[in-house]
Amino acid sequence: MSQPVIFCDFDGTVTEKDNIIAIMNEFAPDGWEEQKEGVLNRTISIREGVGKMFSLLPVSLKDEIIEFAIKNARIRPGFQEFLDFAAEEGIPVYIVSGGIDFFIEPIINSFGPLAGVFCNGSDFSGETIKIEWPNSCDDQCSNDCGCCKPSIMRKLEHDGIKKIVIGDSVTDLEAAKQADMVFARDYLKDKCEEWKIPYTPFGTFHDCVEALKIQTGVRG
Ligand SMILES: [Mg+2]
Ligand SMILES: [Zn+2]
Repeated sequence: MSQPVIFCDFDGTVTEKDNIIAIMNEFAPDGWEEQKEGVLNRTISIREGVGKMFSLLPVSLKDEIIEFAIKNARIRPGFQEFLDFAAEEGIPVYIVSGGIDFFIEPIINSFGPLAGVFCNGSDFSGETIKIEWPNSCDDQCSNDCGCCKPSIMRKLEHDGIKKIVIGDSVTDLEAAKQADMVFARDYLKDKCEEWKIPYTPFGTFHDCVEALKIQTGVRG
């Protein structure tokens, strides 16, 4: 049987809500919502929109923003149990996120094991927060994703792996299109319906474990 590999989103998936939206609601001056709308209706790229949103925030707010992000983030139930199950089954779990390192790392630190965390970077050396893009699109993607999930999957994939994608949003759709199995909620679920991509709906990570037990032939 092929080796399953899990590519799991962070914002709105591992955490119950989107951390970028929460941070912007709390700290950003007027103007960020315009960027958000642009991203959602696809008139600007994710990379451009997210970059501009964070450029509205002075670097002096760094500690305050991190503290807020940690306090505000609620982890979706069953996440650690899900990681324990994957570890027992020898299934690597990668976090693949369009979020930013400075809030993801302190939140995810207490969970594991993880095979890796792919997300955007940040530079606090200027006056406002500058986002860095170490995982931008390869030559097969022209969406200007920022953190390009399909590109990361192509980089990590090799013969015989079964790609499992878990997500909730617009950035997960392209990844879902090239997955062998999809767990979807919220916007991604609607998009899977629209694109006729087979998916398993989930509310908690316990749901994912149950479905994986059946799919991978493991009985709990
Ligand atoms: Mg998400
Ligand atoms: Zn891309």
